Amino acid sequence: MIQPVDIKLGRYWHVLDDGRIQCDVCPRYCKLHEGQRGLCFVRARQSDQIVLTTYGRSSGFCIDPIEKKPLNHFLPGTPVLSFGTAGCNLTCKFCQNWDISKARDLDRVQDAALPEKIAEAAARSGCRSVAFTYNDPVIFLEYAVDVAQACRERGIKTVAVSAGYISPEPRIEFFRHMDAANIDLKGFSEGFYKTLCSGRLAPVLETLEYLKHETKVWFEITTLLIPGENDSPAEIEAESAWVMDRLGPDVPLHFTAFHPDWKLTDRPPTPPQTLREARQIATNAGLRYVYTGNIHDPAGQTTHCHSCGAILIGRDWYDITEWHLSADGRCTKCGTRCEGMFEANAGRWGPRRQQLRLRAFDPTLSVH
Ligand code: SF4
Repeated sequence: MIQPVDIKLGRYWHVLDDGRIQCDVCPRYCKLHEGQRGLCFVRARQSDQIVLTTYGRSSGFCIDPIEKKPLNHFLPGTPVLSFGTAGCNLTCKFCQNWDISKARDLDRVQDAALPEKIAEAAARSGCRSVAFTYNDPVIFLEYAVDVAQACRERGIKTVAVSAGYISPEPRIEFFRHMDAANIDLKGFSEGFYKTLCSGRLAPVLETLEYLKHETKVWFEITTLLIPGENDSPAEIEAESAWVMDRLGPDVPLHFTAFHPDWKLTDRPPTPPQTLREARQIATNAGLRYVYTGNIHDPAGQTTHCHSCGAILIGRDWYDITEWHLSADGRCTKCGTRCEGMFEANAGRWGPRRQQLRLRAFDPTLSVH
């Protein structure tokens, strides 16, 4: 039995004719008998309601560079307070955070973390934003929304790192509270989603189009390239053409390197050349901001002006090595705007990763 201290009533569900309760948060639409949990593990039926079992609990906090989410056009160089809970609504065999996303006991989310405390910790530690990451925030929507509201009251921005696997109605509420997002587009075929994630591609594409055309959320896309699974030039061409056609040239696209993990340990790591070729294909398709990730590739992580070609932001891993943008995000050489959220100067957080214990958080602590 779930302990009452952990329970918060969930939204987005209805009772079916046969007595089961259907959760409507994501396209899995889990149908639950009393006492059952959804596939995501954190939403459960209890006393004929859907409850969120990990409200106010976290699997840990870290201060990261914002580039690690990855977001290259959102307050570059600034620190972001990152946290997650447990569980996930996809079952990716290649999960790179499986110890959190596949957690099936609440020991993994021991840190008490009420929304106001998270916002306070972010503000006091000099973070410009809070990121819902490590596992997909869609499944703990009510908690993420409350944290986002507490953050906005303190001028802290919020970032969703998500697979975008969410139903249309909760999608509206969820993204209304976010300032930025990185959406994991895991592959560009229904077969990939079905075989490796037990999900579907179409709802993810709907989320991307929704973000572009119906919100002001700044978002970037990440595709983890897995050798032999989603890295063929034809699939990368198709993905790039879709992004160009449906979202336009200014949405940044990150191709990142896979390392063998969870249930996909028989594949080699992604060769750096595959990432560079993918970047070239997407650039040829007309996309203006295409990056490589998880490899050392300063050229593939540099932002160029799409008009004159000058370097706007140079990067070496998570270090900003060059900055040639004006306060309103224009190329200092030719004045062309670079899409994103920028300030006059880059942040100076650098590549540091710093763990933070909320329980032991000293209100006088300043780490920035
Ligand atoms: S959010 Fe969880 S319980 Fe709800 S439909 Fe998705 S996997 Fe099932």
